[in-house]
Amino acid sequence: MTDVFHRPADWRIVPERRVFEVSWDDGQVAEYDWEQMRRACPCAYCSGEGGYRGNVNEATTFSEKQTTLTEVHPVGRYGLTPVWGDGHETGIYTFKMLRRAAGLE
Ligand SMILES: [Zn+2]
Repeated sequence: MTDVFHRPADWRIVPERRVFEVSWDDGQVAEYDWEQMRRACPCAYCSGEGGYRGNVNEATTFSEKQTTLTEVHPVGRYGLTPVWGDGHETGIYTFKMLRRAAGLE
């Protein structure tokens, strides 16, 4: 297994299909379903931290706003932060995490 650190070459929000599309620097293109992406939000509020369980799990029901991706901002050189329709924007999705979620190394 190589330890190459891949970055997105480009990304776009595709509202017609409610997916987030990332074109990686190695030519791979991955799509992320908005709801699955929101459910995987890694912020402390959603996924918990330390002994705190977090507010989101497999059974969580989201509103349409909560699963509507409105903007995506880069975070340093290692990740990105989605801005959701309800204003939630505290999750930092690392490139590593996104690659793994798409089944890419
Ligand atoms: Zn969150």
